[in-house]
Amino acid sequence: MLDNAPPLPSEIARRRTFAIIAHPDAGKTTLTEKFLLFGGAIQMAGQVRAKGEARRTRSDFLKLEQDRGISVSASAMSFDYREYRFNLVDTPGHSDFSEDTYRTLTAVDAAVMVIDGAKGVESQTRKLFEVCRLRDLPILTFCNKMDREARDTFEIIDEIQENLAIDVTPASWPIGSGRDFLGAYDLLNDRLELMDRADRNKVAESVKLDGLDDPRLADHIPADMLAQLRDEIAMVRELLPAFDRQAFLHGAMTPIWFGSAINSFGVKELMEGIGNFGPGPQPQKAAERPVAADEPKVTGFVFKVQANMDPKHRDRVAFVRLASGHFERGMKLTHVRSKKPMAVTNPVLFLAADRELAEEAWAGDIIGIPNHGQLRIGDALTEGETLRFTGIPSFAPELLQNIRATDPMKAKHLEKALLQFAEEGAAKVFRPMIGSGFIVGVVGALQFDVLASRIQLEYSIPVRFEPSQFSSARWISGDKAEIEKLVNVNKQHIASDSDGDLVFLTRLQWDIDRVVRDYPLAKLTATKEMM
Ligand code: GDP
Repeated sequence: MLDNAPPLPSEIARRRTFAIIAHPDAGKTTLTEKFLLFGGAIQMAGQVRAKGEARRTRSDFLKLEQDRGISVSASAMSFDYREYRFNLVDTPGHSDFSEDTYRTLTAVDAAVMVIDGAKGVESQTRKLFEVCRLRDLPILTFCNKMDREARDTFEIIDEIQENLAIDVTPASWPIGSGRDFLGAYDLLNDRLELMDRADRNKVAESVKLDGLDDPRLADHIPADMLAQLRDEIAMVRELLPAFDRQAFLHGAMTPIWFGSAINSFGVKELMEGIGNFGPGPQPQKAAERPVAADEPKVTGFVFKVQANMDPKHRDRVAFVRLASGHFERGMKLTHVRSKKPMAVTNPVLFLAADRELAEEAWAGDIIGIPNHGQLRIGDALTEGETLRFTGIPSFAPELLQNIRATDPMKAKHLEKALLQFAEEGAAKVFRPMIGSGFIVGVVGALQFDVLASRIQLEYSIPVRFEPSQFSSARWISGDKAEIEKLVNVNKQHIASDSDGDLVFLTRLQWDIDRVVRDYPLAKLTATKEMM
């Protein structure tokens, strides 16, 4: 993060590209919906979530997601709020999709962490937080569901500080909790925010105050609660660190807002926080050099590929984070991996309600590029320069299964479908050296169900997964002659992945140790950089 960098051009500086991380049920969907509502991207609440039992956001494309009520696919949504352009990149909430989540987080500059005021830091919050920390992402915290019985405010803050080893500074302070929850005192702007329980979509009434001694406070808060508020804030000022923007930008401090997403409470303050504290589009790392957002030439990288977003059109959309420059529709960019020019004639911006043709986009934006499979995760697009953006890993799958088409006549089709999902990053597909068929590797068991359902839905091929004799995969790299020896002696363990790279498959850690010992010039790795 650059501390003293000159200001970015204003179109770039106003961009805020971020993701929401949360344990399932903490309120991510509800908060997203309110963002879109206040951003003018939807007209009323309830559009994001379908009515009744089927929960879904506009970012959910699959029937399975609706059936299970989980959000499987990440997508991007853009909306304006005040002078800011927000790009919200949706992270899949389920723990089975951690790899996808990881890659999503390579495309953002900040994250909003939502926690449930009654539950505090939960397992998935912690995991996602760790991923953010790997990249030193600035994090803003939203403590949700304050309209319900919540834990003691100091206790929540302590838990975050201790569990996540990050300084916490309150941006607002809750007044009462549960049924007595009145609202919050905005510590950054000396305002009183009052929650309206009658209308969930109404934004809180805001009372500008001259500090905590302002007599107008007594008009809105009963005396005993007011005394408590004053006591608590005196303690806050003594015990908790004040907001420090640099510490925040370095990921060492998180401001926390207390609110209730469903009651639209605290959401605007959070949006203002994202806008005012930032950061704007950050430099992106490439093997050759860091790429700054205000460089005049357009560069970007693919962090996600989604196939068949619209079942009527067999399209694939590559999600590209623009790292620099000002993109205009029709531009010819160089696809660095193939060194081929690519005219980007029909890019899409994700303006919540619908996919919309993007006429222009700036560094920090996410654009979707429909394509027929040329674009893969990790690919760079530039105006000619050879750049390889780094830090987009592929993880070794933790679960492996054989896949079969129930109808053997469809085997060839199945191969095509599998390769497509592999390129999308939805699964690893391995072709064993010996024998026929494919082995599919995933990070979480639920992904097998998702795949089977998608292959049926999108390709009309019924498939069956069967146990595999293997449970681990390692990529093989290193000295050519050594690899050749290794492969010749261990053929029954060798397969190639969808890029043609060699992998070693086994069930035993012992096997991996043995190969490492016997072939010192070869390397077995659990991750591979995608580029
Ligand atoms: P997600 O799984 O993180 O996307 O969570 P959702 O947004 O779907 O919310 C989970 C549940 O909590 C839903 O039943 C919401 O209606 C409810 N919820 C969300 N925000 C609030 C809130 O501020 N107060 C209360 N009481 N419930 C909320």
